[in-house]
Amino acid sequence: MRRVTHIRFHLIIALSILFVCVTPQTSWALSLQPGDGVGTPVSLAGHLAILHDPTGTLTIDEIASGRADLQFKPIPSMLTEGYRRGAVWVRFSLSGPSPPRQWLLQVERPLIENVALYAPDGSGHLVSSPSDVVSGDKPGPRAYTTLFPLALPATEGEYFIRFESMTSITTALNIWQREGYETYRRSDHWIMGLVLGAIGAMLLANLLFAYLLRDSLYLLYAAVLFVSSLMTIFHLGYADEILRFLEPPQIQRSWGVIVCLYSLVMVWFMGRLFEFRRHSIWAWRAIQLIVLLNGGAAVFALAGHYNDVALLVSRLQQFSYIFIAMAVLYLLAVRRQYQYLLSALAFAGVITVSLVMQSQYAGTNLLGIDSSLARFMAVGTLVHLVLLSAAVAQRARQAERKLSEEKDRVLALSRSAEQELALKVSVRTAALAESNAALKDEVERRHLLELKLRQSLDSVNDALAQQRDFVALVSHEFRAPLAVIAAAADNLSLAATEGSGHIGQRAAKIRQTVKRMSMLIENVLAGERLDAGYAPRNTIETFDLNEVLHTAEAGLDSDATGRVSFAYGERAPVKGDRHLLEIVVLNLIQNGLKYSTAPSAVAVRLTADRGTALVTVVDQGVGVAADDRELIFTKYYRAGEQRVPGSGLGLYVSKEIARQHGGDLALTASDGAGSTFRLSLPISGAPEGEPPDSI
Ligand code: ADP
Repeated sequence: MRRVTHIRFHLIIALSILFVCVTPQTSWALSLQPGDGVGTPVSLAGHLAILHDPTGTLTIDEIASGRADLQFKPIPSMLTEGYRRGAVWVRFSLSGPSPPRQWLLQVERPLIENVALYAPDGSGHLVSSPSDVVSGDKPGPRAYTTLFPLALPATEGEYFIRFESMTSITTALNIWQREGYETYRRSDHWIMGLVLGAIGAMLLANLLFAYLLRDSLYLLYAAVLFVSSLMTIFHLGYADEILRFLEPPQIQRSWGVIVCLYSLVMVWFMGRLFEFRRHSIWAWRAIQLIVLLNGGAAVFALAGHYNDVALLVSRLQQFSYIFIAMAVLYLLAVRRQYQYLLSALAFAGVITVSLVMQSQYAGTNLLGIDSSLARFMAVGTLVHLVLLSAAVAQRARQAERKLSEEKDRVLALSRSAEQELALKVSVRTAALAESNAALKDEVERRHLLELKLRQSLDSVNDALAQQRDFVALVSHEFRAPLAVIAAAADNLSLAATEGSGHIGQRAAKIRQTVKRMSMLIENVLAGERLDAGYAPRNTIETFDLNEVLHTAEAGLDSDATGRVSFAYGERAPVKGDRHLLEIVVLNLIQNGLKYSTAPSAVAVRLTADRGTALVTVVDQGVGVAADDRELIFTKYYRAGEQRVPGSGLGLYVSKEIARQHGGDLALTASDGAGSTFRLSLPISGAPEGEPPDSI
């Protein structure tokens, strides 16, 4: 409790000190000294009393008459009357040193359209005309009056100023000596140049950003900069000089338009800078409404009715700034959107300058300012614009970063797409190569097939040729024995008339020839059967090979019987076609007889060796040349120049029959003294013997 009392006590003391500091001591009359108004102006703050004339109809005589109902009220600081209807009268007393000097009264905020100074004139008050232009200023009539010459009396004189304006009546009144004011104005030129130069540079930069980044925010900020520069021009009293293409009434009218436009672009820009649309559509709608209202007010101002909406515009600006400030605080504190920190700082600058100005214009001198509001405004504007530029530049950087991130992303995407494409291409290429290889294989396969087809066609052609040859051969072979038979028959009938001695011989000749023919026919038929791979199953039987030899022996004619000897062996059962095996044995015997000369012997012998039955036929004939030993087993082959008739079919057929019975036929020995052919066949039932299944 004691602690709270202490705090209160200290607070009261602190506030009292503050009150004493900020409340200027008011003394009514101001007595100027020779050195006053040279380096710094002499402020009339604290020496002013005001009177509000709501109708604006009071005359100077009524004001100066000291009527009881027209009482002036002293004010402690500069004039902050805000948007007043009618006129505002200001009274002050001055005395000057002698000898008299050139004094000037400066109306510091040159945005009040009607200012009239009434100076004492012995008997009463006379309206005083504005001062001639000081060096460097524009000559001729001005949109706003800023200067009045003062001829100060040595004794106290009472002055009156009448203000009337459609905008705020807020101003500081200063007294200068001429040279002091000129120096002050020169520094204003510098400030103006500096502010305009800086704003111009920022404007260009933002136009460039807008062009490069294709973001309308920069365009909007360029508009803010442009309108801000116009505001500064008006505040510092350069409107007449810079907007010299306009008439004074037009300049006065454009001020209202500029104020509305400033509010419009600034609120719009803030809404965009803090991305209200992204965070809350309602906040963005509110911004749009404010922009719309300011636009409407601008139309009013343009039509010359700014005084009807000036207060609304001022209040609307205060409201919108407070609204934006709350929203930004929410974004920072609750949503933690720290990327807006710099922008928020810049906006705080805007708010500070603007709220101070607005409070002054609305008639509240919150900070107790009683001097140059215009310079405060110019410098404040410059500061907050620089801060805003930094915020915008930061945004540009962020945008650039986003852009480069986006670029990287797109690049990565395109790279991966490229890789994917390359992969697909390689997969497709591999698949193509595979199908190419398959195609190639197919082509090769077809090529091979074609080759085989051609080969088989060739072999068919060969076979046809062989058949043609064979037919020619066989017809010859048939013709020859038939001729022999015919001749023999003729001879036989002749012999029958001559005597029976020759009949036997002729008959033997016929038998021999018929045998040859039969043999040939047998070979042809057997060959055909073998070629067709056909063997009737009912001819397969198991029999003793000795029986085949017996049959062969029984079939020999008398000539042959004398030459061929048979050596039978043990029982040699074989499985197969008895008739075919007889053909083999007969072929071998006939060849032995054919290719040797009578009466050389032909020996036929049957033996058995480890499950194989062997039929050996040995002759004492011409033998087979070494080169022909393999070839004689091929179809239609006949070795050398044969005078002996034959078809070249016997050995081929015999070897095929032997093979199909699971055995073989070979020429085992041959020289000039004779040949040995051997037929080998597996003995049926023998452990190592294989049954001839193929028959
Ligand atoms: P062909 O006897 O009807 O000419 P073969 O097929 O029986 O047909 O014989 C083929 C060839 O083998 C004969 O032309 C002959 O030159 C030769 N040849 C066969 N057997 C003997 C043999 N015992 N002595 C010498 N040459 C033979």
